[in-house]
Amino acid sequence: MSLAEEMDTVTAASAGTVDRHATTETFESTDPASGAVVGVFPVHDAAAVRETVERARPAASRWGLLGYDGRKQRLAAYRGYLARRMHELADLVHRENGKPHADAILEITLAIDHLAWAANHARKVLGPRKVHAGMLAANHAAYLEYQPMGVVGVIGPWNYPVFTPMGSIAYALSAGNAVVFKPSEHTPAIGAWLAAAWRAAVPDAADAFQVVTGFGDTGSALCRAGVDKLAFTGSAPTGRKVMAACAENLVPVLMELGGKDAMIVDDDADVAAAADAAVWGAMSNAGQTCIGIERVYATEKVYDAFVAEVQKKVEGLRPGSDDEAAYGPMTMASQADVVQRHLDDAAAKGGRTLAGGTIENGFIAPTVLVDVPETSDAVREETFGPTLTIAKVRDAEQALELTNDSAHGLGGSVYSKSKDRAMDLARRMRSGMTSINSVLTFASVPSLPFGGVGNSGFGRIHGEDGLKEFTRAKAITRQRVPLPVNLMSFGRPAQAADALARVMGLVHGRHR
Ligand code: NAD
Repeated sequence: MSLAEEMDTVTAASAGTVDRHATTETFESTDPASGAVVGVFPVHDAAAVRETVERARPAASRWGLLGYDGRKQRLAAYRGYLARRMHELADLVHRENGKPHADAILEITLAIDHLAWAANHARKVLGPRKVHAGMLAANHAAYLEYQPMGVVGVIGPWNYPVFTPMGSIAYALSAGNAVVFKPSEHTPAIGAWLAAAWRAAVPDAADAFQVVTGFGDTGSALCRAGVDKLAFTGSAPTGRKVMAACAENLVPVLMELGGKDAMIVDDDADVAAAADAAVWGAMSNAGQTCIGIERVYATEKVYDAFVAEVQKKVEGLRPGSDDEAAYGPMTMASQADVVQRHLDDAAAKGGRTLAGGTIENGFIAPTVLVDVPETSDAVREETFGPTLTIAKVRDAEQALELTNDSAHGLGGSVYSKSKDRAMDLARRMRSGMTSINSVLTFASVPSLPFGGVGNSGFGRIHGEDGLKEFTRAKAITRQRVPLPVNLMSFGRPAQAADALARVMGLVHGRHR
């Protein structure tokens, strides 16, 4: 099927949603490079969102009853559908988000890989198992299983409009939940495409994954629409609002928020490799990456060489919307204002611009800043643009100290040839994930959890933790044989407690 036909399917699906919800208000999504309209989508109001969640409820029961094998087979059909239409989806991502087609392919590849891992591991991670009952309940069998929560609301951002929400959607579906997804108002066509693809690939569980579109009010309505869990990915200020809305009904939340990730370049680092990775980590996707590298701390031994390598690497980079461009425009025009404010603040505080620093029609040149004080916005706040600050430090210890002196703590990177040294630094980095001698790699390992600390959020997607995030642990005991003395009965003999105290003294009393 061609992209045009595919988009017809998407539009038809959206139109269907409009009719079903009798929502009349619509909004346009546009190509950030040209301003051309990509699609028109309904603004789902509170009633429409609630209706969608109510439709998801019986779908969740049916989806749950399919069991691990039934779900695995359907999730495989979904990823097969995505894999066969990768270029069509990548074209749409390029048009609506602005990133180069090749980057969109990479993003979709990661999402498919996570879908496969989540579906293939759900039974092993979540399925019923017998656990040791322990001394006090030795006459009982004990069972543990992780049950689906029901309907999971997913609110997503625009920067990785396939990969990021799929980190919640794939794991929530694999765990047996239905999902209602609210994509960013900047990328509704991609969200609608993903849901239309689901309906086409998995027609017998079509309502297990639905999409509602709109702005913040639609997201807020989703928090209050009776969902059993809300997975939010976006900025910390919005995250606070989402938590407040969810608190009204004690809806548990997963918070995947922004970052200010640092790279530490140690004395023995491969400087050229570190510079190459830092430039990719900072500039790819126009720097609009939650786990993008925004700060580098290079030891004084390697600082000059590192800065020279970075300058060399950025010379060849150019933003644009053509096939040769390294990255696209800012997806959200207002983000350019944030970047400008950070550049101005850095300059006012004595920072020097070694490369870039210019913003034209939403395209930001690759920008390298040095001598930027640690108190400036460009070091303390998430910039979310193709910018990099490089600071000279005495040694890796000082680098770690400055890295950890941040309200955020999402990912990070360490460059060192010494495995022990690098592992030690990685462990002590205050972040949810760290890549050694590379950047962002942890996101492409489906068996590793992904999530932050501090202002970067809490809870985990990906891996075993990501599957468990969308479940409730269920504990069951079954008495195998009755004991002659039942301690949890009013009929217990008076001396039973003394006997128990003696046993505990023997077993635990020797520990000091
Ligand atoms: P945002 O917070 O502006 O919006 C995120 C989503 O929340 C959108 O769908 C938006 O419509 C919705 N929303 C807005 N107001 C709402 C409200 N009151 N109630 C409910 N929903 C509401 O974020 P953004 O600009 O779309 O995304 C960029 C941010 O996301 C950056 O900070 C980035 O670092 C972060 N991010 C984090 C991760 C991660 O995994 N930790 C991944 C990607 C992006």
